Amino acid sequence: MRKNIVAGNWKMNKSLAEGIQLAKDVNVAVEAAGALKCDVVVAPPFLHLTEVSKVTGPKVSVSAQNCAAEASGAYTGEVSAAMLQSANIPYVIIGHSERRSYYGETDAILAKKADLALINGLKPIFCIGEELSQRDSGKYFDVVGQQIENGLFHLSANDFAKAVIAYEPVWAIGTGRTATAGQAQEVHAFIRKTIAAKYGEEVAGNTTILYGGSCNENNARELFACPDIDGGLIGGASLVADKFIRIVTSF
Ligand code: PEP
Repeated sequence: MRKNIVAGNWKMNKSLAEGIQLAKDVNVAVEAAGALKCDVVVAPPFLHLTEVSKVTGPKVSVSAQNCAAEASGAYTGEVSAAMLQSANIPYVIIGHSERRSYYGETDAILAKKADLALINGLKPIFCIGEELSQRDSGKYFDVVGQQIENGLFHLSANDFAKAVIAYEPVWAIGTGRTATAGQAQEVHAFIRKTIAAKYGEEVAGNTTILYGGSCNENNARELFACPDIDGGLIGGASLVADKFIRIVTSF
């Protein structure tokens, strides 16, 4: 059966010292929480990754927020999937809407990133989601269907099965306007159906699909109770250990 996951995307927040402290606080709280119904992942900025790995135990995994679309070479400022693997980082977020919109990351670029992540043994957390105008014009199924198809459907079933999907409607990210549980479940069910049509029911049933977009300690329980929502990718609320843990324990 598929895993539940709650992943915290810290984005470009926290000094190194603050990040280490947050990771320690999350780790202590996760240990204190006893048996959890989900895996816990934190995604700090690149600079913090190895230090955060040192202060987190086996119940907290670490993720990068991005990786390069090229394997190595003259790409100033980039960090490769191989480098992440060499630092024992197990996850990488790919295709966050901020990467898509501010840095022009197209489906084709994201497909290359997914390939490099998988070649290097990383688990991609692959983000998809429609913008507000696409929601309002009723095109959201087409948009998320295209994003997953263009970004991931070139993979073998074996490789696809290593990926985690994060449905993050852009209009809900950082806006405080969460998708209702009904809106999120509708799209998650569509994503699972789309995966089943390509890879079969078994792969679809085993794929973890996270919801992201203003998910917090007050709405996580209702969202996570939906049959096709397997956890969350959490932005703002992951920056405060106490809030993050209340989301983690919402299953
Ligand atoms: C995100 O950026 O992945 C996210 C879900 O942000 P927030 O929770 O702040 O909306």
